[in-house]
Amino acid sequence: MGLEQAHTMILETAAVPPIAKNGYVIGCEETREGVLIDPGDEVDQLLDAVRRHALSIRYILLTHAHFDHVTGVGRAKRELGVPVGLHRDDEFLYRAVVQQGAAFGLPVEPQPPIDFFYEGAGPWRFGHYGVWVSHTPGHSPGGVCLAVGKEAEQSRSLFVGDTLFAGSIGRTDLPGGDTATLLRSIREVLFKFPDETPVYSGHGESTTIGRERKTNPFLNSAWSS
Ligand SMILES: [Zn+2]
Ligand SMILES: [Zn+2]
Repeated sequence: MGLEQAHTMILETAAVPPIAKNGYVIGCEETREGVLIDPGDEVDQLLDAVRRHALSIRYILLTHAHFDHVTGVGRAKRELGVPVGLHRDDEFLYRAVVQQGAAFGLPVEPQPPIDFFYEGAGPWRFGHYGVWVSHTPGHSPGGVCLAVGKEAEQSRSLFVGDTLFAGSIGRTDLPGGDTATLLRSIREVLFKFPDETPVYSGHGESTTIGRERKTNPFLNSAWSS
C-alpha cells in the first residue's frame, strides 16, 4: 500500500419482508457507473441508493430467476432504462414468475422480457470494474455467480444468489434443482476463489469463501464430499 488511500467499490444492499431477499447496488467510486443485482420487492430502496450515490446504472444483472429475485425488474427498468441479463437456462422460470409467486401464495406482477442472455464469461463493464459470469447450476438450472472487481486488480467480490449462504446452501427442491449439481458448483466454481473473497448471498448475512470452506456444515461433513 502506498500513501494514497485505497478506493472502495460502492456497495449497497436492501431487503424487505416477507421474504427478506437481498438486492444489491454496486458502483465504481471514480466514474459513478453501476449495476443493479437481483432487484426484488426492495427495488425502491435500491433506486434510492442509486440516486444517493448519483450512479449511472449500466445493467440489471440477475443471479437466477426465482420470483423473489426479479419482482423489481419491471420497476427498475422503467426508471433506469437499461438492459436486463439472465442465464438462458433460467428463462423458463422467469417466464413463469406469476405462477412461481402463486405457488407461495404471493401476488406477483409479470416482468418485462429479458434483454440478453449471458454468453461467455464477460466481463460486463461499469466504470473501472467488470462483472465476470460463471454458471453455477444446482439451486436452479441457470444460476450464476457474478464475480466483480477492477479489471486491473486480482481481487473479486462474489454475488452468488442462492447457491451459497453463510453457514448453509441453497435449497434444491424447486423445479430444476439438484443437490449434487449444487455442491459441485460450490466446490468447482466458488471454492476456486481465495479465502479472503467476500461472498454476498441472496438471503442473510455476507460471508467469505474461507469461512464457508472451513465451517459450512453442508460442505464439510463426510456425506457431502
Ligand atoms: Zn432462489
Ligand atoms: Zn431467493
